[in-house]
Amino acid sequence: VNSKVFINGKFLDPDQATVSVFDRGFLFSDSVYEVIHVDGNKLFLFEEHIERLKRSLSELDMDFPNYDFLTICQELLKISPVDYGGIYIQVTRGTQQPRSHFWHQKKLLPNVVAFAQSIKRPEKKALKAITYPDLRWGRCDVKSTSLLANVLAREEAAKNSCDEALLVSSSGWVSEGSSTNLFVCRNGVVKTPPLSENILPGVTRKFCLEVLNELAIPYKEEKLSKEELFNSDEVWITSSTKDVLPLESIDGIELKFEMENSLWEQVFNRFKEKKLKSLK
Ligand code: PMP
Repeated sequence: VNSKVFINGKFLDPDQATVSVFDRGFLFSDSVYEVIHVDGNKLFLFEEHIERLKRSLSELDMDFPNYDFLTICQELLKISPVDYGGIYIQVTRGTQQPRSHFWHQKKLLPNVVAFAQSIKRPEKKALKAITYPDLRWGRCDVKSTSLLANVLAREEAAKNSCDEALLVSSSGWVSEGSSTNLFVCRNGVVKTPPLSENILPGVTRKFCLEVLNELAIPYKEEKLSKEELFNSDEVWITSSTKDVLPLESIDGIELKFEMENSLWEQVFNRFKEKKLKSLK
């Protein structure tokens, strides 16, 4: 595939696109990222992702890099079109040598990387999940590349032939998936954990809430216990590459989910329609 990687102002071949081993992103995960969804070679919710990137950077006291990310994304998609997938963007605090935990009074230049990636278009199919302890830090609202607790959880799901790991706090609250936000419904009412420092403010989560509003489906943003998860009629996950998908089992326990006439199907259909209109 004739793809390029954007790195600090240049579009390079993947094997030419390198950062120093003294980059703070590499040494400390001192960096933030976004994955902007692409469908039919068009961007979905671009501005929302850039707004979140700005917020993540500002929370970590990093400047927003002086690049036109829309042009970068469009250029990447021109070089290698993506039928379904995303554009990954990462901004690190920069390269600092010698290695040091703090950067006070050091003038660092951020390293900025972006590339397009294709993935298989998800099938309209219910997924399987496991539950897993939420071992993450106290600022999960910042989209940092410190994803060790997320990837360990997701790997455990993969080992169990599952598609996602739902993260449970030590007090028994379910916050979100390893890379998805979580919705449940019971007796026609939808519930999703509220925005807090314990979850990522998903752009797909927000879009899904807009869809619920349009369909006049009642919803609450409230904390969700593990027990409630298993007592729900439907459980859905949302993310930039999955849109909104239902679960059929958690920890090997069947949820008795029927796709036909489900609330999910209503939401999925409206989501698709609304998505097509907002692709750019
Ligand atoms: N939670 C976590 C921890 C994630 O990594 C992601 C994926 N970025 C999401 C939720 C879903 O967010 P979005 O809808 O913005 O892709």
